[in-house]
Amino acid sequence: MTRTLAPLRGMNDVLPDDSPWWQLLEDTARNVFEAYGFRQIRVPLLERTELFRRSIGEVTDIVEKEMYTFDDRSGDSVTLRPEATAGIVRAGISNGLLHNQQQRLWCLGPMFRYERPQKGRYRQFHQIDVEALGYPGPDIDAEMILMSARIWRELGLRMPRLEINSLGTPEARAAYRDVLVDYFEARRAELDEDSLRRLGTNPMRILDSKHPDMQTVIAEAPLLTEHLDAESARHFQTLRVLLDAAGIEYRINPRLVRGLDYYSRTVFEWLTDRLGAQGAVCSGGRYDGLVSQLGGRPTPAIGWAMGVERLVELLRLDRPDLSASAADIYVAVGDDAVGEGMQLAESLRDGLRGVRVQLHCGGGSLKTQFRRADRSGARWALVLGQSELERGEVTAKPLRGEGEQCAVPRVEVLAWLRARLD
Ligand code: ATP
Ligand code: MG
Repeated sequence: MTRTLAPLRGMNDVLPDDSPWWQLLEDTARNVFEAYGFRQIRVPLLERTELFRRSIGEVTDIVEKEMYTFDDRSGDSVTLRPEATAGIVRAGISNGLLHNQQQRLWCLGPMFRYERPQKGRYRQFHQIDVEALGYPGPDIDAEMILMSARIWRELGLRMPRLEINSLGTPEARAAYRDVLVDYFEARRAELDEDSLRRLGTNPMRILDSKHPDMQTVIAEAPLLTEHLDAESARHFQTLRVLLDAAGIEYRINPRLVRGLDYYSRTVFEWLTDRLGAQGAVCSGGRYDGLVSQLGGRPTPAIGWAMGVERLVELLRLDRPDLSASAADIYVAVGDDAVGEGMQLAESLRDGLRGVRVQLHCGGGSLKTQFRRADRSGARWALVLGQSELERGEVTAKPLRGEGEQCAVPRVEVLAWLRARLD
């Protein structure tokens, strides 16, 4: 017997029954992005490993232990993208999109991280991602946050909660780093192995540790907020004024540092309590240094990414009204009426835009065909058999308790359905 192959751990199939929620999210996001003047960009799934090392940072969870990295056939080290920003910035530089220009871009697709799979945390997962390049902010920072809030509203989601913080400039962070190292040195005994190592390399990463035993020592650590440079403090203050004016509620979380090295100044996360431990549904921030760090001219920028699987999970709770049905109308045909049935189905697709018409294929008894019709989720079955052909009619059978079965003259079918499909 042939052995069946199990899927890889943490790599999910998105089945047709899941699609309505995925599509609602994708369609809503695209419409909102367009409403804010963002344009789509598509970048490769595979990039040089170097790109992620240089952008995300050597001493981060992603680069240290989560990347899918391998040598291709010419011996070059390549990596499946763990996030989209690095690739988009690389594309902006490679294609000259950033020279004295502003770009508002969005992108959607799978990301890959070798994490421990659990609910809301997978090895292949999807992000919808936006980036605004060439904008110093804080006006665009507020617009980016407003844009995400609009997506939640238009989806009909219960509002997640917004947390914001400022990471200041690299110089401000360098000063803070010294303070932080002193603090953690004094409490070495409470640090786990990862954190001890990071103390010498990237102490701010310790603040992002998810280790439960570390939460007290993290909670009592000195705050970056108290070491913010004046310009960053002003930037943050203006962002707050703009968010207040727009009626966006938020909480300042001075512990929010984010897991990637490239952020500066504004960072934020949208969180929910309804998904268990995996509470972040959308996160982002400003990355003013990244473009030049990757070889482009200095270009201030900000971006965010939402976790599609987590949002789909929420959408299923808040939008149980969506249906995974395949059809609105199911055309059942007798053996001698297949050609006529096909023409009927085509004429309905021509005449009823947006209505889903499924023609029964594969023959079989009327009973079998009705069973299929029912499973398709259609509201009506239209039957075209020998007797209907002779009388120039179709039989319309409601499948969802909408009235009685009746005969409709062939020439009136379109109008008859229009009147019922609103
Ligand atoms: P977390 O703290 O949950 O690990 P993160 O800070 O690593 O998230 P980002 O790199 O900012 O996440 O990615 C943006 C969004 O992508 C997150 O807010 C989350 O919704 C989603 N996300 C990140 N990693 C995963 C994953 N392994 N599986 C599913 N969704 C994910
Ligand atoms: Mg993570």
